[in-house]
Amino acid sequence: MTTPADSPIRSGFKFTTPLIFEQGSKSRHGASQIDPDVPAIDLDAELGSFRREMPAHLPEVSEPEAFRHYIRLSQQNFAIDLGMYPLGSCTMKYNPKVNEWAARLPGFAGLHPMAPDSEVQGALELMYRLERGLAEVCGMDHVSLHPAAGAQGEYTGLMMIQAHHRREGRSPSKVLIPDTAHGTNPASCALNGLKAVPFPAGENGIVVPELIAPLIDDDVAAIMITNPNTVGLFEEHLATVAEMVHAKGGQVYGDGANLNALMGWARPGDLGIDVMQFNLHKTFTTPHGGGGPGCGPVGYKAHLHDYAPTPFAEKDGDSYHLVRERPLSIGRLRSFHGNFGMMVRAYAYLREMGAEGLKGATEMAVLNANYLRAKLGEEWHVPFENRCMHEVVISDAHLKETGVTTMDIAKRLVDYGFHAPTVYFPLVVKGAMLIEPTETENKATLDQFVEALQQISKEAKENPEMVKSAPHTTRLRRLNEAQAARKPVLRWTPGEE
Ligand SMILES: *Cc1c(COP(=O)(O)O)cnc(C)c1O
Repeated sequence: MTTPADSPIRSGFKFTTPLIFEQGSKSRHGASQIDPDVPAIDLDAELGSFRREMPAHLPEVSEPEAFRHYIRLSQQNFAIDLGMYPLGSCTMKYNPKVNEWAARLPGFAGLHPMAPDSEVQGALELMYRLERGLAEVCGMDHVSLHPAAGAQGEYTGLMMIQAHHRREGRSPSKVLIPDTAHGTNPASCALNGLKAVPFPAGENGIVVPELIAPLIDDDVAAIMITNPNTVGLFEEHLATVAEMVHAKGGQVYGDGANLNALMGWARPGDLGIDVMQFNLHKTFTTPHGGGGPGCGPVGYKAHLHDYAPTPFAEKDGDSYHLVRERPLSIGRLRSFHGNFGMMVRAYAYLREMGAEGLKGATEMAVLNANYLRAKLGEEWHVPFENRCMHEVVISDAHLKETGVTTMDIAKRLVDYGFHAPTVYFPLVVKGAMLIEPTETENKATLDQFVEALQQISKEAKENPEMVKSAPHTTRLRRLNEAQAARKPVLRWTPGEE
């Protein structure tokens, strides 16, 4: 038997479904139209050379065909709405459905982005209140809601730091980044023409002042610190490190993607951070994954306000308006106001939780990760002794002799109904599995997850083939991941197989 008896994976039928273009037949459609009562127009005269010579190759299917097709596709994938998704560093927590209700309210969902300020007072007020709420959570003076993702938030923050140095007549070129940082950090530096200078974290997985002291000089534009870092540990020396960098004129960038380890308990702004990004699509329960829209607001201290991107909402007596142009602003990073729908969801979440709720969420996230750390530590290798924050690293060092790889274990977890944790990351731990249970999973689910990993460890020792050939229960088995990432086939072209 390859499927664990109580795996939720058993509960869905795994349909095969042809491409939508291979379904239906000519002139079949799903709409009932009445005859138009407006005069017909001469398309040739109206469109001239813009008129298509051939009809577009659109699928011609009925409503049931279209609906079933997309439901079937959705059943071939894992989702947070199906089960625990402990993908470390990604905070795949459950997104409360009340957020969706709020974002779909016609007064929000139907707004036109170019409507005059006077017609969209409610939306501007929501943006303003969300900004103030986030500023309070992270101890910053202002927040720009504009960036579309965490990485774009980093990019924005670094641009603001560069603008600040330029105004002071300086152009330092280096950004110090510990080897426990997220991969987007060095990428954001490169995009800004800054040189990422990596340095090692100390022995117990956190940044220690002694190791970076020799690197801090006048050419340091900033240090980028992920706190908690990607091995799930709190950066205890952050305030000291910030002081050292500030003393040489540098700025401190905080990667705040994983705020469910801090919110309600510690504020990055109070720890010496000048600018940071939030990931609303992680901490503040706006949906993410699959490349969907995110929102990566940037919180910053008052001395960086002149450089903030536009537009942003400002309060003026009892009314609100958008600030669109400012002389020293780094400008726009994307179209219109940012991903407004995400702002509505995050605001609904903030109001639903309140200060106590956010504090409680952090408490649960940290408790859950430490529960897994203790339970899994009975069988698996836990490389860092310290108590962890919202996520825990384990490794498969004890299975070295079996020939089973970290990837095999990840694939086998799918048979047990769990999404795999992040594997082979952080790079500083060999055979790493970065597990982030999040605060939305209860003890029963965590126990099932522990049980699954203990079973897999047993299988690896007694029947390694079972693990190496997993997954056994999915519609597709082992994909060629390198080819899927490098040569994705995303477009159907007529006449092709
Ligand atoms: C997720 C994450 C990012 C990147 O966020 P995106 O929205 O995916 O661009 C950056 N840093 C850390 C620590 C993260 O966990």
